[in-house]
Amino acid sequence: MESTLGEGSAELLEQLKSIVGPAGYRAGSDIEAKNYKDVMGARSVPPVILLRPSDTQQVSDILRACHAANQPVAPQGGMTGLVAAAAPLDGEVALSFERMKNVVEIDRFTSTMTVEAGVELQKIQEQADEHDLLFPLDLGARGSCTIGGNLSTNAGGNRVIRYGMTRDLVVGVEAVLADGTIIDGLHKLRKNNTGYDLKQLFIGSEGTLGLITRAVLKLSPKPSSQVVAMCGVKDFDKVANLLVHAQSYLGSNLSAFEVIWQNTYKLIDEHVPHATVPIADHYSFYVLIESMGSNADRDTELFIETLSKATDQGLVEEVILADSDTKIKNLWTVRDGAAEVYPGVGYMHTYDVSLNVGDMGYFGEEVEKRLRIVWPEAILGLFGHIGDGNVHIIIRTGKDTADHHLQIDEIIYGLIRELQGAVSAEHGIGLMKKQFLSYSKSESEIALMKALKQTMDPQGILNPGRVF
Ligand code: ZN
Repeated sequence: MESTLGEGSAELLEQLKSIVGPAGYRAGSDIEAKNYKDVMGARSVPPVILLRPSDTQQVSDILRACHAANQPVAPQGGMTGLVAAAAPLDGEVALSFERMKNVVEIDRFTSTMTVEAGVELQKIQEQADEHDLLFPLDLGARGSCTIGGNLSTNAGGNRVIRYGMTRDLVVGVEAVLADGTIIDGLHKLRKNNTGYDLKQLFIGSEGTLGLITRAVLKLSPKPSSQVVAMCGVKDFDKVANLLVHAQSYLGSNLSAFEVIWQNTYKLIDEHVPHATVPIADHYSFYVLIESMGSNADRDTELFIETLSKATDQGLVEEVILADSDTKIKNLWTVRDGAAEVYPGVGYMHTYDVSLNVGDMGYFGEEVEKRLRIVWPEAILGLFGHIGDGNVHIIIRTGKDTADHHLQIDEIIYGLIRELQGAVSAEHGIGLMKKQFLSYSKSESEIALMKALKQTMDPQGILNPGRVF
């Protein structure tokens, strides 16, 4: 299917091409399939044209022209999103940041890195590391996702418990509004209490309020010690108490508290050949705890003491400690294996929700109960960043599972509404969750969101139809 513009569009296309020059766009069959869709979306529509601006001024000129012509734009990063936000809709122009890949500056006195939107997350991590610093954002797609996408979706990942979400890791942002106005908030000031925190409007708004072109990222001192353990735990009440225990003993050294439910653990064991599970599969929960600090001997000692106290208190049944790089990697491979069971199991629906840790044990049992009423043979697994109250659920109801999407949505999000959780913890809303936005946001909150959209993008050209 070819996507086309309406009448009078030939003129706009020529204008856009002249803004970016011959290297700055792709058209027709030159547009790669990766620009059609993100990781999860079913939709796969080639954009009218793929614009690849090389700097902020070009982004501004493109948006000014599209604003004047009422032309919708789909902004694109690494296309690793999970809610079908960056996949173009019919008739949309795609704007990719793939040519804006410069690390502009690393400033070790302010511990900041200034980057363009198209830099891959992994490159940022590596550059920080070379300067003995840490950019703590980390997620599975690190090699292909870009910081612009991380920012616009407010990505989460494995180390939120210690360092926060993406929005907590930014000090300044430069963004372009729908009409081409450049908002220059690119400063390194950690304390800047001068009225509204405008950068936060662009972070997490999924490209609907403005396009982030550059950002100043907050770096942290690079930890010199890392210890990880996997614990077998009997019930969720003990998992929740183990979290409190780990927080109070390890303090700011606690850098991950990841939980794998037994159902997922068994799926990993069976379907992920490169992951070797370290403990037998008869425990109800498997908890990966990580500590990072600045004094290897003292940190390891504290970690061991924390775990042995947890054992004495009956919180954990069995512990595997990893204190070498290889052993640490093996435990993380098991945890990451939770996202890699699909090839073995077959297509699975993926959910990302947030709720109070105290409700999570009930949530897991109740999801299974409600699913099995409809599909007694359903395969499901739960796992997630429980230290942040974030759980992922993977579900396959059978060979027709793709047809059951909405029914499963109702079960999961209905339960989330009952428990006053959030229908998205870290993936965003995009198109896939927008009909459930009201399950987690009140009418007045959504009205305020719409008022902001109207003010900042009056023609509605930026990623229209996403979020609401
Ligand atoms: Zn996650």
